[in-house]
Amino acid sequence: MAYQSVNPNTGKLLNQFDELTDSQLEKTLANAEASFQTWKHTTYAQRAVIVAKAAALMHAHVDDFAKLATLEMGKRIDEARGEVKFSADILAYYAKHAETFLAPVKLNPKVGEAHMESSPFGVLFCVEPWNFPFYQLARVAGPQLMAGNVLVVKHAGCVPQCAIAFEKLWTDAGAPKGTYTNLLISHSQSERVIDDPRIKGVALTGSVDAGRSIAARAGKHLKKTSMELGGSDAFIVLEDADLEKTIPWAVWGRMYNGGQTCCAAKRFIVVESIADKFIEKFKEALLTLKPGDPMDEKTTHGPLSTESALVQLLKQVDNAVSKGAKLVMGGKRIDRPGSFMETTILTDIKPDNPAFRDEFFGPVVSFFRVKDEAAAIALANDSDFGLGGSVFTEDLARGKRVASSVDTGMMFINNIDWSDAELPFGGIKDSGYGRELGNMGIQEFVNKKLVRTANLKAPA
Ligand code: NAP
Repeated sequence: MAYQSVNPNTGKLLNQFDELTDSQLEKTLANAEASFQTWKHTTYAQRAVIVAKAAALMHAHVDDFAKLATLEMGKRIDEARGEVKFSADILAYYAKHAETFLAPVKLNPKVGEAHMESSPFGVLFCVEPWNFPFYQLARVAGPQLMAGNVLVVKHAGCVPQCAIAFEKLWTDAGAPKGTYTNLLISHSQSERVIDDPRIKGVALTGSVDAGRSIAARAGKHLKKTSMELGGSDAFIVLEDADLEKTIPWAVWGRMYNGGQTCCAAKRFIVVESIADKFIEKFKEALLTLKPGDPMDEKTTHGPLSTESALVQLLKQVDNAVSKGAKLVMGGKRIDRPGSFMETTILTDIKPDNPAFRDEFFGPVVSFFRVKDEAAAIALANDSDFGLGGSVFTEDLARGKRVASSVDTGMMFINNIDWSDAELPFGGIKDSGYGRELGNMGIQEFVNKKLVRTANLKAPA
């Protein structure tokens, strides 16, 4: 069964769900389309009542949502609570600001008057990953429902209970039937959804492979897509970095969410003169993390999301080592029940090693020494990905120079505080295109219509 809820801390099956039949799927799409015909005529104020109510309900039930994430994909409970609160804040942010973001914009033609106005596309199909089972959904639901679009959403196979809970949230908040619908469907059914003429846009957050396949399918029908894909973000440490401040960010940047974050720090690129000191302190800090039940607040190192994620990551590390990388620490499964992986550091990763280009989605550090700032930038840019990255230096002007020289959608100086409701999130190259969050996020699936008034005679 594709939709299985398995606790990665114990390996125990919690629940499983049937996929929709084709006729159930058809009914769902018909409901979504019917709902759009009404929803698009509601005012921003009417939509905001529902979206703000959903935010309030999430805040009121933080623990219920958080526990589901911890049970289904092993997120440490504190992090899960943080994710739920942040998801609620994103919904509240769009309830408050959508009308301003989508207000008509006056233009200044030489003759007459003109403005741009925004209107929703229609039913959108969203495909979302398990690693932030609520935040990823809030990132599309908040802006798109406020814009007047209606959503049908395929969540990842391993988090069906989170997916169902988020759908129920909208019913509880008073959203009309069909406004937000969770789809328990197969990949081939997803293709049919993309082909369906009632679907007007497709948003995916997931792997590069999924991006290629879904964007190609949507492209055949000239449907607008946004793609939030993988990353292999550089964490650049220059010789003047303050290691007292940098090491905690390095640990957080790699280990937050069990290392399973698209924009996690994955490639640590450190200038030679500070490299030994950095790796020694980094290793020391990583060794203090204690594996345990993610439901226990004291746990600092949780399991990976699924057993298959662990098996794949172990294989990637073995492959990296067989191709010449050195293992400084870790590299193995932790000897306890559940899908736990040791914190791992790889060094000596040469360009012909697959590890040089691949994304490691878990607690695996790829460590590189470089001569200087220019070499750090060159190595950071030698990547198929272009999601985010960070630079650590006590010289802010230098930090800004490096940030401007790295080819990614986001750069962070002396922090990796990735996400804020008001800050656009997204990448370039194989990390995808389009932006979520902020004002930009709500503009992705709206028609920008030019309206011009001019009292002119037609040319003869
Ligand atoms: P994944 O396999 O691509 O899965 C993501 C979603 O896509 C799931 O719902 C999955 O459904 C679905 N999917 C995959 N292939 C599909 C297809 N051919 N047709 C229809 N649906 C399909 O991604 P993952 O490996 O689980 O997630 C981690 C990846 O997401 C990493 O690469 C990470 O960097 C990236 N990510 C990016 C961002 C961002 O904002 N840029 C944020 C988070 C994660 P099933 O589960 O049913 O296969």
